[in-house]
Amino acid sequence: MARIAFIGLGNMGGGMAANLAKAGHDVRAFDLSADALDKAKAAGCLPADSAAAACEGVEAVVTMLPAGKHVEGVYADSIFDAVPKTAILIDCSTIDVATAKRVAEAAAAKGLTMVDAPVSGGIGAANAGTLTFMVGGSAAAFERAEAFLSDMGKAVIHAGANGSGQSVKICNNMLLGATMIATCEAMVLAQKLGLDPQKFYDIASVSSGSCWSLNTYAPMPGVGPQSPADNDYQGGFAAALMLKDLRLAMEAAGSVDAETPMGAKATALYEAFVAADVGNHDFSGIIRTLATSKT
Ligand code: NAD
Repeated sequence: MARIAFIGLGNMGGGMAANLAKAGHDVRAFDLSADALDKAKAAGCLPADSAAAACEGVEAVVTMLPAGKHVEGVYADSIFDAVPKTAILIDCSTIDVATAKRVAEAAAAKGLTMVDAPVSGGIGAANAGTLTFMVGGSAAAFERAEAFLSDMGKAVIHAGANGSGQSVKICNNMLLGATMIATCEAMVLAQKLGLDPQKFYDIASVSSGSCWSLNTYAPMPGVGPQSPADNDYQGGFAAALMLKDLRLAMEAAGSVDAETPMGAKATALYEAFVAADVGNHDFSGIIRTLATSKT
């Protein structure tokens, strides 16, 4: 079993670090929050006094931080000069593609190997160890990272070179944001046309309108399998996180001059929804803004 530094023990990182400890690893944990450190200790990790201290003598570093600026800062200030050259560096945060590539280049310049490995799956999957990891880095780096990631997830997939993990993640979530809004529109229109929403679901989910947002995450209560819609849109994937990913997708699209009109529209609609939403609701809750009458 390996010694691993885990930095960023929040909603996602807390459960992930606990699963590494449960798998028998010696996990040296650090977070700016004392509360998060206490929880990690209770879950079998060894709290460190700083990110640099956590990195001493480790075989791997895993980070799960809010955004690109945190990732760039923590690697430059605390990890690169503290970690053994033999360690594999694994950033699981969702961040912008440009920063992911830049931090990996900075690691390489220091003689270190790094991958970006953002996740699909929320807090429940992080706690249960059933995340999906999409990994950007060399084939050799992927193989080294996979050994650790498989203790925290159900699938670990190599996407390509550094930055590719983040590219897959934001393109997937742009598709998800757009299909969720389209699913909401179709269900509300069907209902306004006098159809029973369950009947619409039964037919569309086995027809060409079939998609994940409809089939497994139907945004209307009582329709389809259990989803956050059945729990007043609590739990699941917060609309604010969907908006974060859509903004990252728009930034990436701008950097390569890609046309993303549906992504742009989805971003604008989620911006309005999140600004008006006081309850940190699931992203499927956007149906409420469409269900109201236009007049
Ligand atoms: P979070 O805010 O709960 O946790 C982030 C943690 O990082 C916090 O505990 C914070 O104290 C810590 N932190 C910040 N700066 C630090 C520093 N300099 N040194 C040490 N610790 C520091 O966020 P989260 O929900 O766990 O999300 C983490 C990442 O995972 C984000 O990039 C998010 O987009 C992504 N993600 C989240 C979900 C989800 O459902 N929450 C799903 C998929 C991906």
